[in-house]
Amino acid sequence: MASSTSILRIKHSTMRLLLLTVAVLIAGCTSYGSGGDSQNDVVPIELPEFDADRAFADIEQQCNFGPRMPGSPGHQAQLEWMIATLTPLADEVIQQPFKATTPFGGPYSFTNLIAVFAAEASGTITMIGAHWDTRPVADEDPNPALRDQPVPGANDGGSGVAILLELARIFAQKPPPRPVYLAFFDAEDSGHSGSSLPYMGFCIGSDYMAHNWPTQIELPDRVIVLDLVGGQRQQEPADVVGPAQSPNDYFNLRIEPYSQAAAAQLVDHIWDIAEFLGHSAFERSSQAGIIDDHLPFINTLGIPAVDIIDFAPPVWHTVDDTPEHCDPNALHQVGETMLGLVYGM
Ligand SMILES: [Zn+2]
Repeated sequence: MASSTSILRIKHSTMRLLLLTVAVLIAGCTSYGSGGDSQNDVVPIELPEFDADRAFADIEQQCNFGPRMPGSPGHQAQLEWMIATLTPLADEVIQQPFKATTPFGGPYSFTNLIAVFAAEASGTITMIGAHWDTRPVADEDPNPALRDQPVPGANDGGSGVAILLELARIFAQKPPPRPVYLAFFDAEDSGHSGSSLPYMGFCIGSDYMAHNWPTQIELPDRVIVLDLVGGQRQQEPADVVGPAQSPNDYFNLRIEPYSQAAAAQLVDHIWDIAEFLGHSAFERSSQAGIIDDHLPFINTLGIPAVDIIDFAPPVWHTVDDTPEHCDPNALHQVGETMLGLVYGM
């Protein structure tokens, strides 16, 4: 998942409060979408079907490989599976191998992938990415005895990859009107709040990609990162009597302030599309700023980049991040919104 968010939890400290303060300040200075008439900017077009059940099966497949943390057999198996799946679908699958040390050890062998679609088309190049590695420790698990266990990563890693692979199948059937890259970032989730590495040791793969962009393809014009997008929780209906729900208690995609600061128009357009499609998980309110794979593209390359993330589900960075805590409905909301963006809504 998302990264570093461990530092963003109140129980963790003043650092979090600092970051949160920055986030709230940013939020206070910007308007989150225009609401109402902004939907007029959405072009109603017919979209291909996003098969959320097929995507969900890819979450289960990934978990069947075991944890995909650095140096693990599951990590290698998942890499081979993704390459085998993408190669017949994409115009080109670019492999970007590198070695790096994480806050948990190494050096390890890592590989970023970029699957290229509609390579011959012209116009705005969209990159949609997700991390494919999983966290080596379940350090947020409520049971201290389990905190040295690896995270299964159904939602944290698995959900984003599952959406990307379903998009790849759709793009192979119906090529997008403009070029699209699907990026699979390695080495996102081995960070630690005490680390002095860039991004606290999170986002190693995306940071490497931003500093070592493959010369055979152009840079993207816009980047969207999907993380923790498979959450199970549904919001209680408004007419249920009881205390108001906290955003941490149900699946929701609020606006992330670093994304808003770097890519306000793109944020507005994505949330407009989601609203048009009736995908209510996309909320116009803001959440705390999050260190995730969008930041290297903003900071290193100056590309507008948006993080779409449900931060943070109760099973985040625990041993319970399993398929039974994921929901095809969440995958459908995010996947179809991405189709709307790519096909020109
Ligand atoms: Zn994570």
